[in-house]
Amino acid sequence: MAESAMRISFFQKNPIKCPVCGTEFRKEEMLSGRGRLITKNLTDELRRIYEPSKKAGEIFPLVYPVMVCPICLYSTYNEDFQTIKEEKVPMVLSQQAKREFEIKNIFPDIDFRKQRGLYTGAASYILAIGSYSFIDKEYAPTFKKGLSSLRAAWVFDDLHKKYPHQKYDRLKIMMYKKAIGYYDRSIKFGQTGEEGIDAIKTFGPDLDKNYGYQGFLFMASLMLFKYGDQRDKGERIAKLQNAKRIVSRVFGSGKSSKNMPSFILDNAKDLYEKIGEQVKELTVG
Ligand SMILES: [Zn+2]
Repeated sequence: MAESAMRISFFQKNPIKCPVCGTEFRKEEMLSGRGRLITKNLTDELRRIYEPSKKAGEIFPLVYPVMVCPICLYSTYNEDFQTIKEEKVPMVLSQQAKREFEIKNIFPDIDFRKQRGLYTGAASYILAIGSYSFIDKEYAPTFKKGLSSLRAAWVFDDLHKKYPHQKYDRLKIMMYKKAIGYYDRSIKFGQTGEEGIDAIKTFGPDLDKNYGYQGFLFMASLMLFKYGDQRDKGERIAKLQNAKRIVSRVFGSGKSSKNMPSFILDNAKDLYEKIGEQVKELTVG
């Protein structure tokens, strides 16, 4: 099978110049046509699952979207890569060693000049979370940190399934918890106008479909329900009640909108009920 395997990616012809360190590099793009990508189910977290094809083997589309400078490791989604303000550049550059140290602590042999895989994919999201601290508010950096945290959790889940003894499940949970925090802050920033959500081209959460703002609210509530902190009971109840309000807005608006994907509508209602049950249990017990 290996000798006849189809290529699953290519490097762009025109180099990109890193706005931070000036390195020129070619971005790797995924190839998805000619039966390479076989779509399977959608998970409860709106993640698209693919089946390995005979011709191309396994493909993980999520490992490609973050642009990473292979030298200074500055990383963002494509559309934001050149938006870094000049006055921020010295600071980003000065943290190159820190980025390298942190990422090599998890993946010692990481090399972004090579073809992407699950290791580089997970690493690209962790690096993006760091780099978005330097991106202007108008590009919704908090949301993008949240989305990157969620996608990192998904890639760590893939890694955990492949290498169950490497403790990638711990990193997965850590990334979900990060995502909860960023989604929560991003919702608040959107309401106060501190960070525009208008600039967001896609709320994802995966690459195959944009579930829009309602999908974003749904994911915030779902992650809180599944992975939120349970240590303090009073705090848990308050957070669940807030999540319940948010999710009720999702299916409330869905009734009046024909554009709302039925998947979200059905699952939001289901989630609303599950959160309600947990609140009841915690209040009684
Ligand atoms: Zn660079």
